[in-house]
Amino acid sequence: MSREAAEPGHDCALCPRLEAFRQEWRRREPTWFNGPVPSFGPATARLLIVGLAPGLQGANRTGRPFTGDHAGVLLYDTLSRFGFARGAYGARPDDGLELVDARITNAVRCVPPENKPTGAEIATCRGFLRSTIAEVPKLRAIVALGRIAHETAAAALDARRSAVPFAHGASHEIGRVRLFDSYHCSRYNTNTGVLTTEMFRSVFARVREFLDA
Ligand code: URA
Repeated sequence: MSREAAEPGHDCALCPRLEAFRQEWRRREPTWFNGPVPSFGPATARLLIVGLAPGLQGANRTGRPFTGDHAGVLLYDTLSRFGFARGAYGARPDDGLELVDARITNAVRCVPPENKPTGAEIATCRGFLRSTIAEVPKLRAIVALGRIAHETAAAALDARRSAVPFAHGASHEIGRVRLFDSYHCSRYNTNTGVLTTEMFRSVFARVREFLDA
C-alpha cells in the first residue's frame, strides 16, 4: 500500500458534511490548518495510537494529532513517561517533540461538528486507517482511545466486533497485532473522573511491558 493512500489529500471531499464544515472554518480562520490531519510519528513504529478525530481548535488548527487539544497534554506526557516520545510537548507542531517507536493517527482525519463523526464518516475514513496500519510494517500494538477508535481499528483489522468487546484496560490479540483499549483522554473524561491519570498510565505501562517482552 502506498504512503499516499494512507493519508487523505488536504482537500479530501469523501465526506460532504466534513468538507462543508472545513470550508466554513477555512473562511473563518484562514491561518489554521483546516484539513485532514496527517498521522504523526515514524512509520517504523511498533505502536500505533488511534484517536477519535481532530479537535476544532486543537489538531484542526495546528495540523498535528492531539496538538493544541486538551487531550494532548495527558497523551504526550504519558508517551514521554513510557519512552514513546522525546523532547518537550509545546502544543505546537514546531515544538521539536519526536515520537519514538510510536505513531499517532485518528479514526476520522477531519474535524467533525461537535466532535461527533457519523457512522458513515467513520466507515469512509476507515480506508485510510487500513492503509495506515498496512504502512507500518513492524506494527505489534495499537492503543485505541475510546470505543469509536476501538471499533474502527478492530474492523480495519478484520476482527468480528463481538469477539473483541471494548473495555478500558482490555486487550485483544488480532492477527499480528495486540489491540489495547483505553477510555479517550478527553477533557470530559478526565474532568469527570471517568479516566484518571493512573488509569491512563497503566494502559501504556502494559503496552511498554508487551513491547519489551
Ligand atoms: N485531537 C486529536 O487529534 N484526536 C483526538 O481524538 C482528540 C483530539
